[in-house]
Amino acid sequence: MKTYQVDQNGYYGEFGGAYIPEILHQCVENLRENYLKVMESDSFKQEFAQLLRDYVGRPSPLYYAKRLSEKYGCKIYLKREDLNHTGAHKINNTIGQILIARRMGKKRIIAETGAGQHGVATATVCALMNMECVVYMGKTDVERQHANVQKMEMLGAKVVPVTSGNMTLKDATNEAIRDWCCHPADTYYIIGSTVGPHPYPDMVARLQSVISEEIKKQLLEKEGRDYPDYLMACVGGGSNAAGTIYHFLDDERVKIVLAEAGGLGIFSGKSAATIQLGKKGIIHGARTLVMQNEDGQIEEPYSVSAGLDYPGIGPMHANLSETHRAKVIAVNDDEALDAAFELTRLEGIIPALESAHALGALPKMSFQPTDVVVLTVSGRGDKDMPTYINYKMTKA
Ligand SMILES: *Cc1c(COP(=O)(O)O)cnc(C)c1O
Repeated sequence: MKTYQVDQNGYYGEFGGAYIPEILHQCVENLRENYLKVMESDSFKQEFAQLLRDYVGRPSPLYYAKRLSEKYGCKIYLKREDLNHTGAHKINNTIGQILIARRMGKKRIIAETGAGQHGVATATVCALMNMECVVYMGKTDVERQHANVQKMEMLGAKVVPVTSGNMTLKDATNEAIRDWCCHPADTYYIIGSTVGPHPYPDMVARLQSVISEEIKKQLLEKEGRDYPDYLMACVGGGSNAAGTIYHFLDDERVKIVLAEAGGLGIFSGKSAATIQLGKKGIIHGARTLVMQNEDGQIEEPYSVSAGLDYPGIGPMHANLSETHRAKVIAVNDDEALDAAFELTRLEGIIPALESAHALGALPKMSFQPTDVVVLTVSGRGDKDMPTYINYKMTKA
């Protein structure tokens, strides 16, 4: 049977793999040999499930959005990852990876962060588990995202500003990889999305797959069938989308819609629509779609949403697009902002700007009245209030 899951060699179709410097080979190989063994052990399963329940607050509700449904002429359920501890889906992954790191005898945790959301989720679990934590963050981002830097420091993490390149996410990632090369024995690198060398994309997808596991159960209860007609999610690196679709990947009754950040428009030169603009290449250890110029230099992406402006995309998602298993829609800044206000006024839920891109894809769809749509609200909008207020002012 055709599958959209990872194969034995770490590939999704022609995407994925592990393209890494020789010095990291042992680390990545060690993780590859151990991640499934650890994740399938009873002790891991038990501790992970208990923390997701008592610390994160899972299961997250599957909420029937009545007024939003009326507006779009179908049945829309929202998967409420915004209600998790720390405000988004990222904590599912960091809890899982720190439990794996401990079982592999690692003492020190490193991470990269762009907007700071993954940094905060990592610093949170390091405080919880009493582990040393170093977070690499581009200097530009340190200045832009000061509240998250303060949170990480309060949680006990050391935040290292990175001054190479554009001083943003990809530079922070390079620096984290450099650190890992210097401390391969005692250090574990927690990657924040379904990106990086195999086994990271598969491991992160599995850790986030609790989302689709819950959707199955919750839909069965509410709709009498355990699958929807449509799944919708935003994609930065792809982790909340991977979690949303994981258990439905090979179920062709379920249509998959991925929303990426169009920025000011895909052909404006200021965009982060990686799936539509990217060409095949290698970024951060995986073969995938990459925004690059003719010489193969990585192009700086742009989106109003800091969580979506990554110049690569998870190899799973590159394959879903290449094989037409998923429909990919670019949602521009203003469309996402309008969608955030719409959800707020219709349902009393202020979504994260990233999640607002998934909502912004709704007007671009045409649904049947009987269609059941599950859309993941990946995070809450508290962090985006300055952007929302500023947008309101310029429109008024
Ligand atoms: C980081 C983030 C994203 C993008 O990351 P994915 O790995 O694509 O899920 C989306 N939504 C929120 C709220 C985030 O914090």
